Amino acid sequence: MNAVLFGPPGSGKGTQARAVCERFAMAHVSTGDLLREAVADQTDLGRQAQAIMAAGKLVPDDLVGGIVRERIARETIANERRSACGGNERGILFDGYPRNLEQARFLDACLQDFGTRIDAAAVLEIAEEELVKRICGRRLCSNDPCGGSYNIYSMPPREEGKCDRCGSDLIRRKDDNEETLRERLAVYSGQTAPILGYYEEKDLLIRVAANGSVSDVRGSLLSGIAAKCGV
Ligand code: AMP
Repeated sequence: MNAVLFGPPGSGKGTQARAVCERFAMAHVSTGDLLREAVADQTDLGRQAQAIMAAGKLVPDDLVGGIVRERIARETIANERRSACGGNERGILFDGYPRNLEQARFLDACLQDFGTRIDAAAVLEIAEEELVKRICGRRLCSNDPCGGSYNIYSMPPREEGKCDRCGSDLIRRKDDNEETLRERLAVYSGQTAPILGYYEEKDLLIRVAANGSVSDVRGSLLSGIAAKCGV
């Protein structure tokens, strides 16, 4: 069973992706993570992708498609080994891919080549104003090892601007500002809306309200995927 997960920045997609992979024993394939690894390792791909990623633009389809195909091939081989030993096959949860219609079509073609397909596409839906509160209200402890994390709207510190745990000043991450966030959200919805239509037409789309608690969202997401995939 394979699925795709969509969600705007701040929707908790990373956390929910981990829960889906755990529940359905899937491999988590995040193209953002794979590209960051390639950059860190300074592979050919990493060198080509580095400046594009730094500018917040999309890495060309053929480069990203290459790593996706390679991952699907690797998972297919691993599944053959698992079945040979009487084990269960593992599906893939795609995160950050596809990001446009060409990638969605490529993914379908690629999976078909390996005898499989996408069974569900879930999208975490949350109002833009809620995301602005979540991200722009976030405050972190300036004392790195402490790891204190707050939100001035939903989880304020006892004393304004100070960490409850160690008393250090609270700071705001540079990219947690409203202007950057609104720009990232505009890019997300511009890219994602057409792909959602693609999966909706195939009756694979699951819309999940993501404004509740982490565990409520997890419950709706897991039951939505289970129902769509008949598991
Ligand atoms: P992410 O962690 O998903 O936000 O991805 C970080 C960056 O990696 C993006 O801003 C893009 O530059 C690049 N990237 C990740 N996934 C893709 C994709 N499917 N297509 C093109 N570029 C991607």
